[in-house]
Amino acid sequence: MEENLSCCCHDSQANFLGRAMQHLGLDEAQRKLLLQSFREVTVQIPLKLRKGEVETLHTFTGYRVQHNHARGPFKGGLRFHPDVQLDEVRALAQLMTWKTALVNIPFGGAKGGITVDPAELAEDELEILTRRFTQKLAPILGEHEDIPAPDVNTNPQVMAWIFDEYSKSHGYTPAVVTGKPVELGGSEGRLEATGFGVAFIAHRACNDLSIPLKQAHIAIQGFGNVGSFTALRLSEMGARIVAISDIFGGIYCKDGVDIQAAMRHVRENGRLEGLKGTKEISNNELLTLPCDVLIPAAMEGVINCDNANAIRARLIIEAANMPITHMADDKLCARGVVIVPDILANVGGVTVSYFEWVQNIQRFPWDKEKVFKLMETYLSRAYEDVRGLSRRKQVDLRTSAYELAVQRTMQAVTLRGF
Ligand code: NAD
Repeated sequence: MEENLSCCCHDSQANFLGRAMQHLGLDEAQRKLLLQSFREVTVQIPLKLRKGEVETLHTFTGYRVQHNHARGPFKGGLRFHPDVQLDEVRALAQLMTWKTALVNIPFGGAKGGITVDPAELAEDELEILTRRFTQKLAPILGEHEDIPAPDVNTNPQVMAWIFDEYSKSHGYTPAVVTGKPVELGGSEGRLEATGFGVAFIAHRACNDLSIPLKQAHIAIQGFGNVGSFTALRLSEMGARIVAISDIFGGIYCKDGVDIQAAMRHVRENGRLEGLKGTKEISNNELLTLPCDVLIPAAMEGVINCDNANAIRARLIIEAANMPITHMADDKLCARGVVIVPDILANVGGVTVSYFEWVQNIQRFPWDKEKVFKLMETYLSRAYEDVRGLSRRKQVDLRTSAYELAVQRTMQAVTLRGF
């Protein structure tokens, strides 16, 4: 069967979910209830853009999809990217419901974004765009309603603008958004949390497969927030990160890339290309390198029918959301490749977002040590829950993760009675 990558996200998720729902014996009405979004909002955001002396009017489209809030307020990131579209946001919102349920924090799932390439905007234009988007979404946001966070191409500064804009009409409300700068009530450790969490889960999975981390060769696609901190933590743990990449391409060093130097290089040059002592490779070459562990940490659908058979890693940790299509997943599982699914692998970020929200509500900041210690407790529990079910039922980690998440959500929906 042909694979249509433009709709791979929602197709793949529907497929993974379908498997879990079948295992749980959910009927048609229950399935429909869990699959539908609670609310989907599309907004138009007009903005005057400067190109030299010339000013032109552009209208950007923004989205917020609230999937399910049976277990707590809607929670999920905002993405600024030219490929943002409703179908993708819908699938990512659902994914957040399963993540928050799996790691057992009192939130539901949402996602949002603007179809824009922020690299083409000046800083003040990006600020105005973010503030206008916040004004339009304000009626459905709130510290007990819906709490956005950073995702692709959004960062603590963007979260600070959202917090400020929302607070103008609602009073001081730091808990309306997470991933803020620490100076404005952001949590210590939030910036690193997703990547450090990925590294923690990767370590656990390596232990289970008897891959000694200190001898492991690891390739990581994407060197943004998630990819860079995953690489940093794993290299601190003694692993050899043989390849990393960004949107412009990858770099390879058989003895291991110096990750601190790579982070400095990106800060100074805006890209990995040209890092001393490394050889340039393409993103596709990175994915198919001979290595023990492969960590896609960029965009969805990058491992698909075109390259699944060429993947040589024994273990894949899904740091990005939905990086493997369901058809590729079938091929990899059939070959015995172990895959730690996104809803487990990258939950460190939303877990520390939850801690940030708790600290904001209580007006009582924690230190980094407490944040990471508690994050590891939550991640460890989620990992053991998933692994335990997978061993008991002899199913792959993804199926057991979805099964647990769907079961917890369905239970909350049933108990609340809506
Ligand atoms: P980011 O914008 O900080 O970094 C993205 C990285 O991927 C950059 O290095 C970019 O150059 C690279 N990239 C973009 N398109 C690419 C392509 N087509 N091929 C190869 N590389 C490409 O984003 P991020 O926050 O690190 O998010 C990465 C992934 O992790 C996304 O799937 C996101 O949804 C997921 N995620 C992020 C968080 C978080 O806390 N930031 C939490 C959970 C999941």
